[in-house]
Amino acid sequence: MIQTDIIIIGAGPTGLFAVFEAGLLKLRCHIIDALPQPGGQLAELYPKKPIFDIPGYPSVGAGELVDNLMEQIKQFEPGFTLAEQATTIDKQEDDTFIVTTNKGTQVHGKAVAIAGGLGSFEPRKPLIDNLADYEEKGVEYFVKNPEQFRDKKIVIAGGGDSALDWSIFLAEVAAEVTLIHRRNEFRGALDSVDKVIELKKQGKINLVTPAEVVGIKGDGKVEALVIEKEGETFDIATDYFIPLFGLSPKLGPIANWGLEIEKNAIKVNNALDYQTNIEGIYAIGDVNTYPGKLKLILCGFHEATLMCQSVYNKLNPGKKFVLKYTTVSGVDGFDGTRKEAEKAVVKAID
Ligand SMILES: Cc1cc2nc3c(=O)[nH]c(=O)nc-3n(C[C@H](O)[C@H](O)[C@H](O)COP(=O)(O)OP(=O)(O)OC[C@H]3O[C@@H](n4cnc5c(N)ncnc54)[C@H](O)[C@@H]3O)c2cc1C
Repeated sequence: MIQTDIIIIGAGPTGLFAVFEAGLLKLRCHIIDALPQPGGQLAELYPKKPIFDIPGYPSVGAGELVDNLMEQIKQFEPGFTLAEQATTIDKQEDDTFIVTTNKGTQVHGKAVAIAGGLGSFEPRKPLIDNLADYEEKGVEYFVKNPEQFRDKKIVIAGGGDSALDWSIFLAEVAAEVTLIHRRNEFRGALDSVDKVIELKKQGKINLVTPAEVVGIKGDGKVEALVIEKEGETFDIATDYFIPLFGLSPKLGPIANWGLEIEKNAIKVNNALDYQTNIEGIYAIGDVNTYPGKLKLILCGFHEATLMCQSVYNKLNPGKKFVLKYTTVSGVDGFDGTRKEAEKAVVKAID
């Protein structure tokens, strides 16, 4: 079992910055996120958008802010469990916690900080009767590791940036890439559409439009898809079906953890430390609610800071904490490298 001080659920900006504030107090963190990459909404919904209300940055790209946060926390060597959803929190008799994920990973810690934002991003699924029978048996909703598709036949469905970008990328990896979209026009970037058309001309992508996948065939795993195109149906043999229809956030398991929920968010004590109704479990960032709450990155950073101070005081009763500015004290314990942080992320994804 993974051991840590603070178990952080959610690797959005709030969860990432919490690692930094905890590190200043010599508290270790382990972060769990359902997505395969850190960054929460910034990475998933608007990586290219500039943000104008981060203090000290007149403008910063959302993706760049995530990279900077990762850079800032690498020195504290947080653990990452990515592409796994935290499903249960069990409070132990000694007031510590065990968080378990949908893949069975268990993390034991002295406090839990839920930084779950709008909840877990869940894939929008196509309406195909037997879809669930083939999940993880050839049906994949994320491309976590492109190597999985090397020299395989794959069918991607969708008309947005993800479907286009992965078709382009995997054209160099897979044995055969078919892109299916129900319209002739794509919603993604024009440049990507042009690339897909170019790859089609080169015979590297089969483009099937306007068409839909309406059935899956295979003995225990995906072997073929049934395609409907202009009133006719036919089969395409494939090893994988990757529907990329976007993600929608759902509070998910957070709603079942015995926490006080109001309007899809967790009620916290904002007068003190953003603790929930269960002692030792905090909720910070977009996932919480209190009078005057603002769902902004800046507010998540503030809440993360007070949460860490509260955990420190709980774990060190009676020990006087002297607040030092980092400009005065520096940041102790710096010995990690970006490579190590990246290795940890890659390992977590694998
Ligand atoms: C288009 C857009 C533009 C925006 N622009 C701005 C802006 O300019 N300025 C600004 O301040 N804010 C902006 N925001 C809001 C900002 O993105 C949010 O306030 C911020 O992302 C909240 O960060 P967070 O870390 O609390 O949550 P999120 O970023 O939502 O991260 C939460 C993470 O928790 C994970 N998670 C949830 N439940 C579980 C679970 N059970 N197990 C594992 N993982 C879980 C999710 O997968 C997610 O990665 C914008 C939002 C959008 C959509």
